Amino acid sequence: MTSPIPCGRFAPSPTGLLHPGSLLAAFGSWLLARHAGGLWRLRIEDVDPPRTVPGAAQAQLRTLADFGLAHDGPVLWQSERNAVYQAALDGLLASDLAFVCHCSRSDLAASGGIHHRCVARSPRPDPAVRFRVLPGSMVRFVDGLRGPQQQDVHAEVGDFVLRRADGCWAYQLAVVVDDAAQGVTEVVRGADLLDSTARQILLQQALGLAVPRYWHLPLLLDAPGHKLSKSLAALPVDSARPLPVLRQLWALLGQPPAALDDCEDLPALLQAARHAFDPARLPRQDILLADGALSAPMLQNPLSPT
Ligand code: GLU
Repeated sequence: MTSPIPCGRFAPSPTGLLHPGSLLAAFGSWLLARHAGGLWRLRIEDVDPPRTVPGAAQAQLRTLADFGLAHDGPVLWQSERNAVYQAALDGLLASDLAFVCHCSRSDLAASGGIHHRCVARSPRPDPAVRFRVLPGSMVRFVDGLRGPQQQDVHAEVGDFVLRRADGCWAYQLAVVVDDAAQGVTEVVRGADLLDSTARQILLQQALGLAVPRYWHLPLLLDAPGHKLSKSLAALPVDSARPLPVLRQLWALLGQPPAALDDCEDLPALLQAARHAFDPARLPRQDILLADGALSAPMLQNPLSPT
């Protein structure tokens, strides 16, 4: 059997503009796929209307284009895929791998929010649907960067939600259905999603889908060790000057800065990066940024005078 052509992807949720951490994941994923001569897909994970910011998806697509990170095939919009997720859910319900659940958050408070059996005190008009996680559901996988991983999904997570009580599709279901639909073989993303991976593998197995390889990139932490969020480094990246930004991201990805020294324009830089990229140099631990490490040219400072 021939192995499929490598295929990576970037799958932002349209909850805001791309910041350095999200662009680091996009560039890392693009590099891994393109270096291997593979495909790179794009997907907008807009299944959570309450968190969707109007115009954010279009702005994210523009930013990726400004940085020259071209994708293959059409952009996949999760908001257009209800029927596909419903079919996957129906299959799981029919085989009793999923069940309708009336438990509320307060019903589950006594078990620390973990669902092992239904304890609802009263039926709800809007029940959720959960995936049934049997005792002993130990998932093991080898992360391309973080090495061997294991999670006892029953003990640590319990029965997890596939369709929420508000009718929205849960990220876990949509992501596995779409990674398979887009032929993704390499999932490169931030380490904040490492903990979701075992759930996704259980779902892939239940749905008869191939399990991709996973690579969890380091998170960018601001000086006190917090994930970027309310700090300067969570400001949007500056699309007007892609070269210096990509050079900074390249260095953060552990790659030798000199490899990009002679590149004068964006196509030349991306071409050189794609050739010089070495996955073995990718950092394996989160990156603690010194104060001011992500200054101009990386950031678009909305406070700066124009
Ligand atoms: N949509 C998720 C996010 O923006 C990423 C999902 C993934 O890469 O699996 O955080």
